[in-house]
Amino acid sequence: MSTDETPDDEEFTTTVYDDDDADLGVLAEKTVAVLGYGSQGHAHALNLHESGIDVMVGLRKSSSSRGAAEAEGLRVMTPKNAASEAQVVSVLVPDTVQPAVYAEIEDELEPGDTLQFAHGFNVHYGQIEPKEEVNVTMVAPKSPGHLVRRNYENDEGTPGLLAVYRDATGDAHDLGLAYAKAIGCTRAGVVETSFREETETDLFGEQAVLCGGVTSLVKQGYETLVDDGYSPEMAYFECLNELKLIVDLLYEDGLGGMWDSVSDTAEYGGLTRGDVVVDEHARENMEAVLEAVQDGTFAREWINENQANRPSYTQLRHAEKTHEIEEVGENLRALFAWSEDTEEETAETPADD
Ligand code: NAD
Ligand code: MG
Repeated sequence: MSTDETPDDEEFTTTVYDDDDADLGVLAEKTVAVLGYGSQGHAHALNLHESGIDVMVGLRKSSSSRGAAEAEGLRVMTPKNAASEAQVVSVLVPDTVQPAVYAEIEDELEPGDTLQFAHGFNVHYGQIEPKEEVNVTMVAPKSPGHLVRRNYENDEGTPGLLAVYRDATGDAHDLGLAYAKAIGCTRAGVVETSFREETETDLFGEQAVLCGGVTSLVKQGYETLVDDGYSPEMAYFECLNELKLIVDLLYEDGLGGMWDSVSDTAEYGGLTRGDVVVDEHARENMEAVLEAVQDGTFAREWINENQANRPSYTQLRHAEKTHEIEEVGENLRALFAWSEDTEEETAETPADD
């Protein structure tokens, strides 16, 4: 375990756990039920199984994933029966479905059992109120499921987060760490957090920077060039395709690694113009986005949207799919050799039902 204390007014402390901090023994006498066999579910179930943990998969009778799980030699039963037999129940169905699945299994949870999540949304925003005397933990790999699985198979790890929302038995933290070890996360490093911090930073990151911010930046850059008469193909290359090269550099070596690799012209232009585009207004907008995450406005909106059968979501998805940059990109990618690699890179996770 390494503790990195950054000198800060608020005494910011990060704890990172590795393999030596975790003991699989605390799971030795237990059975783990993995509910759902999608992106995370299949990876957790298979990694737990190969780490020697007694695991079974909980899926609806009608689930199309049943065959895939059984073909891997995993025991499959209904979520209710799996939860009844297990002492650790890992909830890996989609976040929007979790409250309904929890209602199905609640009666099967006994004092001392552990309810395990990979994202804090439902517990943090009160959509699931886990019954008393049950441990509530979170082990959240910071990676899509197919990488959690692939890394494990290659004897590598996937960084992850660990949080304990309720410690009913006194060893919830050890159980969480053991689970993290069994799916390969402690090989890379597991960071201690809370349900609140994980949920709020996750939502903010995907909205403001990763998914929302980046796609808006790409579209606005593309439109600026095309509206001024430049060719859509050039605009696509400059504003979307090359993003991967930059992101790879950022990922490998941080901002400095990227600045070192680009030309001095690109570096000077970027350093002087970046803040002109993403300026103090963008910062104020980010703060508003964060506030809506913190005060529950976003969560309520998303829950209502789902209850209403996703009217806005469906419209927005359609608008995004039909943006000109998508057609231009599809045609260009088909012409170039790298498109074959891209196919290989996509997740080989079992079909969603
Ligand atoms: P997913 O959509 O890939 O898979 C969900 C699986 O749940 C399906 O394959 C199916 O087996 C089952 N399922 C679907 N609908 C169901 C229903 N109505 N009733 C019962 N079972 C149903 O989900 P995911 O992306 O693996 O997400 C699972 C959890 O992991 C979520 O809490 C998510 O936030 C978290 N998480 C996901 C990622 C990621 O990259 N995908 C990363 C970290 C954490
Ligand atoms: Mg995320």
